Amino acid sequence: MNEEDRIVRRNIHVPLTCEKCGKANPEYKGVGEYKCAECGYTMYDDFGLVRNYLEAHAGATQSEVSRETGVAMDTIRQFLKEDRLEIVAGSNVMMTCEICNAPIRSGRYCPACALAVEKRIQAEKAAEHKKALQGFGKGNQGESGAIRFRR
Ligand SMILES: [Zn+2]
Ligand SMILES: [Zn+2]
Repeated sequence: MNEEDRIVRRNIHVPLTCEKCGKANPEYKGVGEYKCAECGYTMYDDFGLVRNYLEAHAGATQSEVSRETGVAMDTIRQFLKEDRLEIVAGSNVMMTCEICNAPIRSGRYCPACALAVEKRIQAEKAAEHKKALQGFGKGNQGESGAIRFRR
């Protein structure tokens, strides 16, 4: 297991002992899967459970995944926000855009809002730049300069 995975996983349920034979520290095999070195039993952490469920049940909703896997909704949402999980094509809505509530498959915003957020950031940058420029001019000089610049 690499360090980055360990850090990401600190808040989620991870098998610490084999669920079958009780031997400590099952070996991490990747994408949420663990294997007991003693008896070969395979276990999953929260991420592995959710991932498996979604692979087997395309179209599952967030609440269904939570109910069937026992993984908290917040944890599932966190996986989606981190883009570690993407709901397969054709599935029911599991995420909504933070701005307009449009259905999205991963991330925080729908494409339209993501673009709007990007534009707003650009506009704020441009406004700051304009303010800085006006600071150098005297009175209306800065204003006419700005108008000429816009054309
Ligand atoms: Zn075991
Ligand atoms: Zn949106």
